[in-house]
Amino acid sequence: MANQHVRITRHLETLVRERHPETSPRALRKTAHYLSTQFSKEGWATTSQLVSAWGKVYRNVVAIKYPDRPGQGEELPPLLIGAHYDTVSGSPGADDNASGLVVLLEVASSLRAQPLARPIWLVAFCLEEQDRLGSQAFASRLKAERRELAGAIILECVGFARSEAGTQQIPPGVPIAVPTQGDFLAIVGNEASRALVTQLDQEAQRYASQLKPLSLVVPGRGEALPDTRRSDHASFWDAGYPAVVLTDTANFRNPHYHRETDTVATLNLEFLSNVAATVTATAIQIAGVRP
Ligand SMILES: [Zn+2]
Repeated sequence: MANQHVRITRHLETLVRERHPETSPRALRKTAHYLSTQFSKEGWATTSQLVSAWGKVYRNVVAIKYPDRPGQGEELPPLLIGAHYDTVSGSPGADDNASGLVVLLEVASSLRAQPLARPIWLVAFCLEEQDRLGSQAFASRLKAERRELAGAIILECVGFARSEAGTQQIPPGVPIAVPTQGDFLAIVGNEASRALVTQLDQEAQRYASQLKPLSLVVPGRGEALPDTRRSDHASFWDAGYPAVVLTDTANFRNPHYHRETDTVATLNLEFLSNVAATVTATAIQIAGVRP
């Protein structure tokens, strides 16, 4: 664990700074480059999907791992795991969303030597804070190409946890009991992704029960509960793909949300590594070769 925390801290030191298309475009580009380099170092094939906005070009960073041998499932629908890498202006974005990026990097490292039965795509999306333009472009292109997905797991603010009572606000209209202690991981899906919600919940119970997973399945595309649509998974819901978001509930727990105080010092590294363990275990369940 100590080693893992050292590695996570090193990633965070590089990633945590404002990464915004208007006010810090250079940091945004450098982050894309860093992610791409790290994925390559872990043996993943990397590519970019270009996204045009306001007359400029941005990129979704994509890392792919295929089954080792040809004819062993490389044609099967891939499992996608994604997190956005941009921030709002004025925030260094440690929880939102360097935390999600660190989980992506940890999963890339843990799956390095894992034999696969179907491809896995790790995607770092640009422009989530700009109406989800990055993931919208990604999901609508997939749909236009009539490609299928085994599912999409989106990481959105997964590094903030507090065990004191009263540290969790209740999002309005949520039809389940929500603890007032802000140390659980929320798993939110819709009817089309119910099976994926169940799998993530089970793997969290099994490998990281300290995460106290709390699952919610909403009807349709979450229209009746707009707070459940506030990340890149909604782009996949809208395009008809099964997608789930893992989150610490962002502003309903984290007082630093979208502020300049969203820094590394406020993150809970144990919580972060537990999320990474859960996502890795779920990815192996869905895309790994069964022994
Ligand atoms: Zn975010």
